[in-house]
Order: sequence, then structure tokens, then C-alpha cells
Amino acid sequence: MTKKMVCIECPKGCVLEVDMDAKPVKITGNKCPKGIGYALSEMEDPRRVLTSSVLTESLELKLAPVKTDRPVPKKELSRAMEEIKKIRLKRAVSAGDIVAENFLGMGIKLVATREVGLV
Ligand code: SF4
Repeated sequence: MTKKMVCIECPKGCVLEVDMDAKPVKITGNKCPKGIGYALSEMEDPRRVLTSSVLTESLELKLAPVKTDRPVPKKELSRAMEEIKKIRLKRAVSAGDIVAENFLGMGIKLVATREVGLV
């Protein structure tokens, strides 16, 4: 069986073909070695950096944009969104400030991606 996927490690977006029946698995279509690592990671433990927004109180914006500082396992993304919905940011932040430590109990930080000041 051959599985196709698009490498998202850079804007080139190479279309990778993974021959799952080959031993070891054969990966083609990558224009650089990163594509091999991406394909292997996608098959074994797919992860994504999560970008979203948290609700604020008494700040100039009702929503503050955030992202995880590391990729989150794809299977945890729904739980991550549920946790993000519970957060209420009540202090001014600058880009890079930590909004939540040990997010999901996985040692991942949720960080602000822009400055949000007080009203
Ligand atoms: S395989 Fe290399 S060149 Fe192609 S999208 Fe991935 S990182 Fe970019």
C-alpha cells in the first residue's frame, strides 16, 4: 500500500509517497532529507503546533491569539481546544509571554503571539 502526504516542513510542500509494504518503508518525492523525517513522524506520532485564541477579561481585545511552543500530538488536539476554551486571560501580555504552563500536563507552554494590553 502506498500512502501520499504533503510535507509541511517548508513552503515547497513536496508530495511524499510512502510505500508501506517495503522493508524498510520507502519514502519518495522529498526534495530534502527533512521530508523523510516528516513522513516517519506522520506515520508514528503525528503532531502539530496548535494556534488558537483565548478569551480575555478587561483587556483591549476580547480574544488573545496563542500557540503552543511545541507540536502537540494530533490525538490530543480536541482536548487541547477544550482546555483553551476554559482559559480567561486577565493580564496584559506581549508576544512570547506564557499564557499557560504545562499545558495538557505535557510540559508544553501556551504562549501569546501578539501584544494585548489593558483596556
Ligand atoms: S521535503 Fe524538504 S523541500 Fe520538500 S517540503 Fe519537506 S522540507 Fe521542504
